[in-house]
Amino acid sequence: MTILFYSEADSAEPWREAFARELPHIAFRVWPDAGPLESVRYALVWNPPRGLLARLPNLKAILALGAGVDPIPTDPTLPKGVPLLRLVDVGFPAQMAEYAIYAVLKFQRRMGELDDLQRRAQWNQLDPFFARDFPVGVMGLGVIGKVVAQRLSAVGYAVAGWARGPKTIENVEVYSARGRLKDFLARSRVVVNALPLTPQTENILDAAAFATMPRGGYVVNIGRGAHLVDRDLIDALDSGQLAGAMLDVFREEPLPSTHPFWRHPKIVVTPHIAAPTIASEVQAQVIDNIRRLERGEPPVGLVDPSRGY
Ligand code: NDP
Repeated sequence: MTILFYSEADSAEPWREAFARELPHIAFRVWPDAGPLESVRYALVWNPPRGLLARLPNLKAILALGAGVDPIPTDPTLPKGVPLLRLVDVGFPAQMAEYAIYAVLKFQRRMGELDDLQRRAQWNQLDPFFARDFPVGVMGLGVIGKVVAQRLSAVGYAVAGWARGPKTIENVEVYSARGRLKDFLARSRVVVNALPLTPQTENILDAAAFATMPRGGYVVNIGRGAHLVDRDLIDALDSGQLAGAMLDVFREEPLPSTHPFWRHPKIVVTPHIAAPTIASEVQAQVIDNIRRLERGEPPVGLVDPSRGY
């Protein structure tokens, strides 16, 4: 029995050690050194190339090395009926909330402008924006978005959230379903995106969305790069419709050095670090899930194939 590891973003070594220690009866192999493909029972993957999973005829489960599982559900060759598991919680919500709070405070307290003034040695006491003038909207109210929304509310912002289904979250005004998206965007000076990437959410941060937000708004993208239409963001910033953006995720990662986001004066770029998958933090959930599957028990983080998240 083999577990096959594939990731361009994570080191295999901590996983090799953990499996040798915790599940020594399972051979650990790293793609492309997979050994006989019919021996592979579990695939532990991040962003696997299309067709890779279809080559494993006896796959019992796919374990994603992240909270988001894209692009796996949209791979047309994906073997049907094989459970797909994502990482749930494992420290992500708190880290994502820290990032979002930092971004919103940076915009509200005009820290980017103050950084520029310092570089020019200029003492200019910019008038502050008040927190009450900064309603924040969180897109996605799942495991991560709910904590992001609650912690932003605790800082003092008027927070709303947008999700597919209705829900109740203390101190957070919830807008649900596509029909409420416009109302949600129209009241949100800052939009923080914590959605999963699915065919329904791809390109959701586009020119129409930015035009619906109040003039002088801000976007924080910690979901996925393909939620955002790059050109539309630049146009909205250049026209003054949006005043700034802080982006952690991109259509192509690493973000190519020639991409205009790197040098745009109103964009802050971070290299997909809002909530990294740290092996030592997430191994217990992965190993526990494999033990559950071996015992025939329900695992944690099962993705619903019909929803894609
Ligand atoms: P969950 O599955 O727990 O939550 C997803 C949320 O999005 C739910 O509230 C869901 O609504 C909502 N949603 C999904 N589709 C739609 C839709 N079509 N319209 C409206 N709402 C929708 O995921 P997590 O909170 O664990 O993770 C969210 C995402 O964060 C991940 O998929 C990943 O892309 C990103 N991420 C980024 C990281 C980074 O470092 N930048 C790190 C970790 C995650 P409902 O509740 O009604 O189902």
